[in-house]
Amino acid sequence: MKDCPSCGSWNSDDASFCRHCGSALLGGPSRATAGNEARQNQPGFTPPSPPPGQHPAHLTPQGSLGTKSSGKATASLVCGIIGLIVFPVIFSVLAINLGLAAKREISRSGGQLSGEGKATAGIVLGIVGLVFGVIFLVLTLAR
Ligand SMILES: [Zn+2]
Repeated sequence: MKDCPSCGSWNSDDASFCRHCGSALLGGPSRATAGNEARQNQPGFTPPSPPPGQHPAHLTPQGSLGTKSSGKATASLVCGIIGLIVFPVIFSVLAINLGLAAKREISRSGGQLSGEGKATAGIVLGIVGLVFGVIFLVLTLAR
């Protein structure tokens, strides 16, 4: 039991605040609790257990949020489209090369980079553009 410094009412030992007037209790047991809290809040006391567990857990969501699409995959897709519509062959070859480079980059990144779908699309568009370009060239030359 400890008595309130403000109103003198008795409160239980584990009470932090007086249940009669609400003021903070400064009795012996509460001082011991405050001491324990202070010790737990000391930088030297806390780091050993929570941060090593918390840091990777904290970094994982940031990592998944920060997962960026491979720039090469996007470039491959863009070149594939350009190769298909505007400049066949040159951009199509670029699209295939960039798509393959993007796939290598993505697999090497170990989950850091995404965009494999874009890289595949870029390669497919590149192949289609190249095939159409070659057919177009053959037809033009044959004429
Ligand atoms: Zn009180």
